Amino acid sequence: MDSGVPASASASASAPAPPKHKTCRKCKASYDPSANTRLSCRFHPSFFVCRRHDDQKRYYELRDGDPPYAAKFYDCCGAEDPDAPGCTTDLHRSYDDAQD
Ligand SMILES: [Zn+2]
Ligand SMILES: [Zn+2]
Repeated sequence: MDSGVPASASASASAPAPPKHKTCRKCKASYDPSANTRLSCRFHPSFFVCRRHDDQKRYYELRDGDPPYAAKFYDCCGAEDPDAPGCTTDLHRSYDDAQD
Protein backbone atom coordinates (compact mmCIF):
# COMPACT_ATOMS: atom_id res chain seq x y z
CA MET A 1 0.00 0.00 0.00
CA ASP A 2 1.28 3.31 -0.94
CA SER A 3 -0.25 6.24 0.94
CA GLY A 4 1.04 9.41 -0.61
CA VAL A 5 1.59 12.21 1.77
CA PRO A 6 0.50 15.48 0.21
CA ALA A 7 3.46 17.72 -0.22
CA SER A 8 2.88 20.86 1.68
CA ALA A 9 4.17 23.54 -0.60
CA SER A 10 4.81 26.33 1.76
CA ALA A 11 6.36 28.86 -0.51
CA SER A 12 7.49 31.34 2.00
CA ALA A 13 8.79 34.25 0.05
CA SER A 14 11.68 35.47 2.05
CA ALA A 15 10.82 39.07 2.59
CA PRO A 16 14.04 40.92 3.21
CA ALA A 17 14.09 43.43 5.99
CA PRO A 18 13.92 46.99 4.78
CA PRO A 19 17.43 47.99 3.81
CA LYS A 20 19.24 50.08 6.30
CA HIS A 21 21.16 51.78 3.58
CA LYS A 22 19.74 54.25 1.16
CA THR A 23 20.85 54.95 -2.37
CA CYS A 24 22.26 58.34 -3.12
CA ARG A 25 20.71 59.97 -6.14
CA LYS A 26 23.82 62.01 -6.80
CA CYS A 27 26.58 59.42 -6.69
CA LYS A 28 24.39 56.29 -6.87
CA ALA A 29 26.22 54.78 -3.92
CA SER A 30 24.44 53.12 -1.06
CA TYR A 31 25.09 54.81 2.21
CA ASP A 32 24.22 54.65 5.86
CA PRO A 33 21.98 57.64 6.68
CA SER A 34 23.28 57.71 10.23
CA ALA A 35 26.81 58.27 8.96
CA ASN A 36 26.04 60.89 6.37
CA THR A 37 28.25 63.94 6.53
CA ARG A 38 29.03 66.78 4.18
CA LEU A 39 32.12 64.84 3.11
CA SER A 40 30.31 61.60 2.44
CA CYS A 41 29.24 62.18 -1.11
CA ARG A 42 31.80 62.87 -3.81
CA PHE A 43 30.32 63.93 -7.09
CA HIS A 44 30.66 66.29 -10.00
CA PRO A 45 28.17 69.14 -9.85
CA SER A 46 28.27 69.48 -13.59
CA PHE A 47 27.95 67.08 -16.48
CA PHE A 48 30.48 65.04 -18.38
CA VAL A 49 30.48 66.93 -21.61
CA CYS A 50 31.70 66.21 -25.10
CA ARG A 51 33.60 69.14 -26.40
CA ARG A 52 37.09 70.42 -26.71
CA HIS A 53 39.15 71.96 -23.99
CA ASP A 54 39.87 75.44 -25.06
CA ASP A 55 41.76 78.17 -23.31
CA GLN A 56 39.70 80.78 -25.06
CA LYS A 57 36.55 79.30 -23.60
CA ARG A 58 35.28 78.64 -27.07
CA TYR A 59 33.92 75.19 -27.46
CA TYR A 60 33.89 73.12 -30.56
CA GLU A 61 31.90 70.23 -31.80
CA LEU A 62 33.83 67.01 -32.00
CA ARG A 63 34.88 66.52 -35.60
CA ASP A 64 35.73 63.43 -37.59
CA GLY A 65 39.25 62.40 -36.80
CA ASP A 66 39.28 63.95 -33.37
CA PRO A 67 40.20 61.45 -30.73
CA PRO A 68 37.06 61.15 -28.60
CA TYR A 69 38.96 61.44 -25.34
CA ALA A 70 40.25 64.85 -26.35
CA ALA A 71 36.83 66.37 -26.02
CA LYS A 72 35.25 64.64 -23.06
CA PHE A 73 35.60 66.05 -19.62
CA TYR A 74 33.68 67.20 -16.62
CA ASP A 75 32.43 70.70 -17.14
CA CYS A 76 32.95 71.55 -13.49
CA CYS A 77 36.59 70.63 -13.00
CA GLY A 78 37.93 69.49 -16.36
CA ALA A 79 38.62 65.90 -15.29
CA GLU A 80 38.84 63.82 -18.43
CA ASP A 81 38.27 60.46 -16.80
CA PRO A 82 34.57 59.62 -16.45
CA ASP A 83 35.52 57.63 -13.37
CA ALA A 84 37.43 60.51 -11.83
CA PRO A 85 36.47 61.02 -8.21
CA GLY A 86 34.09 63.88 -7.69
CA CYS A 87 35.51 67.34 -7.24
CA THR A 88 32.85 68.34 -4.72
CA THR A 89 31.63 66.76 -1.53
CA ASP A 90 28.27 67.11 0.16
CA LEU A 91 25.69 65.12 2.01
CA HIS A 92 24.33 62.10 0.25
CA ARG A 93 20.78 62.63 -0.89
CA SER A 94 18.45 59.72 -1.21
CA TYR A 95 15.53 59.54 -3.56
CA ASP A 96 13.30 59.87 -0.51
CA ASP A 97 14.73 63.20 0.54
CA ALA A 98 13.07 66.36 -0.60
CA GLN A 99 14.81 68.07 -3.45
CA ASP A 100 16.23 71.42 -2.65
ZN1 LIG B 1 26.23 60.41 -2.70
ZN1 LIG C 1 34.06 67.87 -11.30
